[in-house]
Amino acid sequence: MALNEFELINRFFFRPYNRQTYTQLGIGDDCALMSIPEGYQLAVTTDTMVEQVHFFSDVEPHCLGHKLLAVNLSDLAATGAKPIAVSLALTLPNVNVQWLTEFANGFWRLADRYEVDLIGGDTTAGPLCLTIQAMGLVAKDAALHRSGAKPGDGIYLTGSVGDAGLGLKILQGDFSPADDLALSRFHQPQPRVEEGLLLSGLASACVDISDGLLADLGHILKSSQVGAMLDWNALQFSAAVDEYIKRTDDWKMPLNSGEDYELCFTVSADNEAKLSQLSDRIQCRKIGHIEADAGLRIKKDGQVSVCQTEGYQHF
Ligand code: ADP
Ligand code: MG
Repeated sequence: MALNEFELINRFFFRPYNRQTYTQLGIGDDCALMSIPEGYQLAVTTDTMVEQVHFFSDVEPHCLGHKLLAVNLSDLAATGAKPIAVSLALTLPNVNVQWLTEFANGFWRLADRYEVDLIGGDTTAGPLCLTIQAMGLVAKDAALHRSGAKPGDGIYLTGSVGDAGLGLKILQGDFSPADDLALSRFHQPQPRVEEGLLLSGLASACVDISDGLLADLGHILKSSQVGAMLDWNALQFSAAVDEYIKRTDDWKMPLNSGEDYELCFTVSADNEAKLSQLSDRIQCRKIGHIEADAGLRIKKDGQVSVCQTEGYQHF
């Protein structure tokens, strides 16, 4: 049985309750209403995924539902904000109940984990295009920006980079690894929400790795008007990425490939001790330091090279 627009929203996206007390009015009106507690700011971000640009047509719909939300939560994490609510704009070529069921499952599994309310959206017919706007709360003056890095600050990275980029190579038939980690990191990235919350008020600058470590660290350097020395040998890679580098000698791949959704952040010398006290809650490594001289330099096996920080550009 074909569903109309409102039946579709009701069946897959409407829930009769909201989880966050901040959500005063959810789906069903022209606008949702949120109340912002005293002493907090609302952090707002939007990310879109377009078929053939951001994902292949044969990707499993539950992965799309997960990833669309994950990339938005990752932006909130990079700001140090606690996710509270999202809106969802869907442009669909047709109403495919099985596709929507799986997409909604992927979305709700992650939304439930972080107790995020879905407070509204838009549903239209057209080429497949998915957009979420996410909202989070951050204490006044505690939000993380790209512009706060200072010479002498340590540069840190949560987890490891290169897996999502390797996942893309696997899908394109360019590499076959021994395990599924790279593919699952490409399809179902885990936003570093808890880490972002711990870093608010502690890190001097932060960015999430969507375009690649060099490109995204480059944003911090540009906004903060500083440079950096990156220590390649301090980076840690998964077994599959290690194997890829060994086979191809392409040691820049994990620096230039995007979509790992780790956090890259800087910490002043004064706060580095506090960060190390959190080592059981934030898995991260120091991968370099901020310098006064503009530009990004990489040290690998004792050799220093200067590198470009240009990431992927849509236009
Ligand atoms: P309007 O015509 O005022 O823009 P709609 O008729 O498009 O509102 O949507 C009806 C209600 O359903 C609104 O509250 C809207 O926010 C919500 N909504 C529409 N599409 C979605 C969606 N994909 N996910 C969640 N809520 C949605
Ligand atoms: Mg309206």
